[in-house]
Amino acid sequence: MDFKNSESLFAKAKTLFPGGVNSPVRAFISVGGTPIFIKKGQGAYITDEDENTYLDFCSSWGPMLLGHAHPSVIEAISKTAINGTSFGAPTRLENELADLIISNHQYIEKLRFVSSGTEAVMSAIRLARGITGKNKIIKFDGCYHGHVDSLMVKAGSGLATFGVSTSAGIPPSFAAETIVLPLNDPFALEDCLHNYAEQIAAIIIEPIPANNGLLLQTKSFLQYLRTKCDEYNVLLIFDEVISGFRVGFEGAAALYSVSPDIITFGKIIGGGLPVGAYGASEKYMSHISPEGNVYQAGTLSGNPLAMAAGISTLKLVLEDGFYEKLATKTQDFVQKITDHCSSKDYDIHVQSIGSIFWIAFSKEKIMAADQIDPASMNHFKKLFHRLLENKIYFGPSGYEVGFVSAAHTESELTNAASIINSIIDEIFK
Ligand SMILES: *Cc1c(COP(=O)(O)O)cnc(C)c1O
Repeated sequence: MDFKNSESLFAKAKTLFPGGVNSPVRAFISVGGTPIFIKKGQGAYITDEDENTYLDFCSSWGPMLLGHAHPSVIEAISKTAINGTSFGAPTRLENELADLIISNHQYIEKLRFVSSGTEAVMSAIRLARGITGKNKIIKFDGCYHGHVDSLMVKAGSGLATFGVSTSAGIPPSFAAETIVLPLNDPFALEDCLHNYAEQIAAIIIEPIPANNGLLLQTKSFLQYLRTKCDEYNVLLIFDEVISGFRVGFEGAAALYSVSPDIITFGKIIGGGLPVGAYGASEKYMSHISPEGNVYQAGTLSGNPLAMAAGISTLKLVLEDGFYEKLATKTQDFVQKITDHCSSKDYDIHVQSIGSIFWIAFSKEKIMAADQIDPASMNHFKKLFHRLLENKIYFGPSGYEVGFVSAAHTESELTNAASIINSIIDEIFK
């Protein structure tokens, strides 16, 4: 098995892009080695430029819920493309996708389409500030919300309440508008709201934190957020860019029976094309321009190809039993790894929800970012490369979750679980 073509493409890419990539995690920094360049995808598989074919658990980081190149999605995109790809004027397809979502989602009355998850979050934050007339935002350590200035922030050290940026190029004054709290800690939250609620526009959370491991929260913590937001007159934003249409059509909001004020979407909503969206009640969405005074716009927003891909994807997931089947398949897969690891008493905990899973090299269940031992990532590094040799592709970082798609069959998953188990045996030998 060789990677010659990927290696030469990466060498060229390094002369063209910073680090050779257009999004940092693709560069294999945390696992080492050369990124594989993908030539094509079909169903649960991807094939690289050296003609190696892998069972794919990265799933483009989440969007490919139906697997790659699903015939209905490709047909919808092709049919639409023949009639032109962008007009900067309204199209019927925008109505269709929005209607499909709104009529099947109890927490959304109106939507606005944008072109990425980051853009959705950025706009939702602006909306929350516009509605409340307040500036500060609470976010949680271990949640990722895209590369929005005021959210690329970690907790200040010591007694500092306000955040410090995690990227150069973000003015400290922007970072200071964000307060970072630990997940799963009602006392820290109550304390913060008690002191600063007058200045706080919104709390933003990934209700299923899945960008820094899978830090599943309790239903009671998420419900506590709702209660406290009502008590202190603060808006609650669920960032469902990953969890939306993944753990069920109505995402984490329905799963935990918590009604957020604003929800952001991305990833699956575009069926593999660049789409994001944010939605809320009619009353809140009326603050958005041109109805209201919160400005937000996009040349390619509601792009016809992207709408067509979204419509065909979401129609399929609305079919009876879609999510149940996917979750059962994933649970069986995860259970095979869990059973093996517990029989051998390894320090491994496989966390999962719906069709998302994360192999944590830890004995205990992890619920907050600071419980992850960075040293455990060396295990992942080995796992990743040995999996690659065995034609299984995971996202190239131990902090990233894996995704099972509708295209993964039970026998492929059973086979993958036994390969994963034997590699884990090697690691702990
Ligand atoms: C992926 C992700 C984003 C960012 O979306 P992009 O399309 O990469 O800009 C924001 N929030 C969450 C929860 C995500 O998983």
